[in-house]
Amino acid sequence: MEQRLKAVWQRIEAAAAKSGRSKDDVRLVAVSKTVPIQKIERAVSAGVTIIGENYIQEAREKFHQIYEMPVSWHFIGHLQRNKARHAVEMFDMIHSVDSLRLAVEIDKQARKIDKIQEVLIQVNLAGEATKSGISIPVASDLIREAAHLEYVSIKGLMTMPPFFNAPERVRPYFRQLRQMRDDLLAQGIPGIEMTELSMGMTGDFEVAVQEGATLVRIGTAIFGERR
Ligand SMILES: *Cc1c(COP(=O)(O)O)cnc(C)c1O
Repeated sequence: MEQRLKAVWQRIEAAAAKSGRSKDDVRLVAVSKTVPIQKIERAVSAGVTIIGENYIQEAREKFHQIYEMPVSWHFIGHLQRNKARHAVEMFDMIHSVDSLRLAVEIDKQARKIDKIQEVLIQVNLAGEATKSGISIPVASDLIREAAHLEYVSIKGLMTMPPFFNAPERVRPYFRQLRQMRDDLLAQGIPGIEMTELSMGMTGDFEVAVQEGATLVRIGTAIFGERR
């Protein structure tokens, strides 16, 4: 696992260099769904600083055992409103906000514990019915409306593009997400700080880095195939 992790970092660095970016502008989210705690601890010892979890229940079990680890927790799965409280308690960033109602609920829960919750808006660029996320126009409206929520800080965008075995075919989607981020930045919407682009997984992260990813979410390439 340590070797695989090292290889992933090297590939991120090489992809960043190829597009004139610094490797320090790309943060690795080690996706640990179904991965046992001992392995997560090893990854953290080997230098992982962010772990990504998909399921609230699984995350709670892990969190109770390893919450003192020096690591940041990111939620990357689909979030139901009735789980927002747990998400706010555990996660430093929620990548998957896809409705105003969810943003409002997160704001309410964050207010209770006096926390500013960092979030990303999940965009479904290809309009795939099987994936979460919202279209570009709906996301733009959501961002405008959620911008005034006091306890929610919108940091950027996340996407899961259609899966192709050829990463080059995913490139246009990554480019589109970056364009959307740049357009929103140019609009200077008060109260939002659109810097993050969460995109790229095991099969396509190098292309995502070349296209401007600031957070790559990688599971299999680090931990091996999931059971
Ligand atoms: C599982 C998952 C990943 C990691 O996928 P790998 O292909 O194993 O790297 C990234 N993002 C999300 C949202 C996921 O659910």
